[in-house]
Amino acid sequence: MDEPRALLASVFGFDEFRPGQEEVVAAVTAGRNTLAIMPTGGGKSLCYQLPALCRAGVTVVISPLIALMRDQVRALSEAGVVAGALTSGNTEAETEAVFAALDAGTLKLLYMAPERLASAGTERLLRRAGVSLIAVDEAHCVSQWGHDFRPDYLRIGALRAALGVPLAAFTATADEETRAEIVARLFAGEAPVTFLRGFDRPNIHLAFEPKNKPRDQIMAFAAARKGQSGIVYCGTRAKTESLAAALASAGHPACHYHAGMEPEARRGVEERFQREDGLIVVATVAFGMGIDKPDIRWVAHADLPKSIEAYYQEIGRAGRDGAPAETLTLYGADDIRYRRTQIDEGLAPPERKSADHGRLNALLGLAEALACRRVALLGYFGEAAEPCGNCDLCARPPETYDGSVAVQKALSAILRTGESFGAGHLIDILVGNATDKVRARGHDQLPTFGVGQDLDKRAWQGVFRQMMGHDLVRPDPERHGALRMTEAARPILRGEADIQLRRNVITRAARPAAKALVSEEDAPLLAALKARRRALAEAQRVPAYVIFPDRTLIEMAEARPDTLDAMARVSGVGAKKLERYGATFLEVIRGEAPEIPHPARRKLAGGAGAEVYDRLVETQARLERGETGLEKPLSCSAALLARVAEARPTEPGALTRLLGERRADRFGPAFLDVLREA
Ligand code: ADP
Ligand code: ZN
Repeated sequence: MDEPRALLASVFGFDEFRPGQEEVVAAVTAGRNTLAIMPTGGGKSLCYQLPALCRAGVTVVISPLIALMRDQVRALSEAGVVAGALTSGNTEAETEAVFAALDAGTLKLLYMAPERLASAGTERLLRRAGVSLIAVDEAHCVSQWGHDFRPDYLRIGALRAALGVPLAAFTATADEETRAEIVARLFAGEAPVTFLRGFDRPNIHLAFEPKNKPRDQIMAFAAARKGQSGIVYCGTRAKTESLAAALASAGHPACHYHAGMEPEARRGVEERFQREDGLIVVATVAFGMGIDKPDIRWVAHADLPKSIEAYYQEIGRAGRDGAPAETLTLYGADDIRYRRTQIDEGLAPPERKSADHGRLNALLGLAEALACRRVALLGYFGEAAEPCGNCDLCARPPETYDGSVAVQKALSAILRTGESFGAGHLIDILVGNATDKVRARGHDQLPTFGVGQDLDKRAWQGVFRQMMGHDLVRPDPERHGALRMTEAARPILRGEADIQLRRNVITRAARPAAKALVSEEDAPLLAALKARRRALAEAQRVPAYVIFPDRTLIEMAEARPDTLDAMARVSGVGAKKLERYGATFLEVIRGEAPEIPHPARRKLAGGAGAEVYDRLVETQARLERGETGLEKPLSCSAALLARVAEARPTEPGALTRLLGERRADRFGPAFLDVLREA
């Protein structure tokens, strides 16, 4: 069957299927009941969109994400496919257009929110429309155990039975229980053809760091990626707010998101993130399902996630477009204590609790790994892999030492004090620090007192953190987090097993710079292509990636096609998009494009601020290297100049508050001349 392949190129502009897509497309196109488990970013949508085009009749797509549906409909329309959505967010005109296309028999894909299935007329509507395939996105929403449960998903099984058409279900959630529930509820227990695609996301860089002034660590990570869209996950709502404020005052566009916010405010953040280039959202895990942005360039965890599955899902939101993306996960002993307590104090039955401890252990094992993180991560999902060369440990293997004796000493301190104390007190005993508490309990008389003077306090903290990470000790929820030894520690205590520990690395002052998406030589062209894309996206009020994903622009910047034919060979440039945008992007590549004003400048256009802005730009260009022309170059961002042009301060104090000391020194007097004249 070569039809899907031909459409892959002509409609979607892709030369090749992503791994796993082709088999799924073939099964779905052939009308078989299908369950495909593919990682986020694996390209699930294509696996039902392409069959929908190959098959007669309408494919109805059920998805819980209204914003996503609307974007997909737009993206499909851009590619020349007739698609529509019936959601609560529709305007009357949109709904009418959908019905008109249905009546005309031209509609190929009909997106529908699950709530719609509850209304009486829906089945009749779909029957009349000639639905020949049901595609279910985020199929794990039928699972009553998952936190994404959507009761209306339970109606899908009945709909399939009533229409008597094949069903294709898609999800990124792989665990057995969820899979079994999907089969039971969507396919009435009759096993569909199942595809389980690999979990590797090779474009995502993996890194962990022990917490050491965690706020500074996050700020530095964000600063090195300024202008790129990112998510910072935090353990608490309060922290999302304070960290977002800190990022904003450091000059990043940033906002917070958590479940305690009004639904409207939450939707506002989701929409802004979807549309805007370079926004940072600082969020709790509540920020997840509603986002489907392919060009998220980084994800940071300010606190440790709750399990290895949660970690995988959260970092997996980065780099869905396949272009390089980076992640950083911070963790410390407090995180481990917090996560353990959370499990112990939860309401789940005992088996579930012990499974949850296991999932947390797997994540901690990854955090304390001694070699390639990807090998450890994929190993957990049952996949073998070679060292990846794209994680912090591949780049810089950790220094390790035989920690058996240190661990024995620590365990001995724990046992001799009746497993009743936390790490702080135990470390005081080990290093021989006779605090009041130590003396009051007579712990300065223990044989363990002072036996750990070969290591300093910080090193011991590292030992305890790693002991918790290897699950050798656990905080006891009933005794305020006092550490208890686990069975796993016994062989080490008895000297029957060794343990390698990582040496503390002092976090380097010089942070690793973000990896550039393209070489230095291509960077200006990529920036110009992005500017053109932004202008087009703003004019059409769609997210930038609906025009072209980052990956396509990167390829354009590198390949520099100089004809429409060459342009058509760039991945992501289908026939329709070539027709619509080919020429305009060619102009940019050939360097013929008129300069596109910065959006901050465009907002001022027509107003009095516009002229002031332009004069400020001229003035700043003249003074870029100071009055003498010999100083270090300095400039103000377009957004900052726009703010000055708008506020038009005429007093030095007010201007300095806007510009900051350094820029006020360089530009203040000349800017004031411009502003006072205006
Ligand atoms: P998910 O599996 O997370 O739903 P999507 O369907 O949103 O993933 O696809 C993720 C990104 O991959 C999109 O930007 C899509 O255009 C791109 N993509 C999908 N299939 C291919 C392909 N065969 N070649 C190149 N890019 C693709
Ligand atoms: Zn690696």
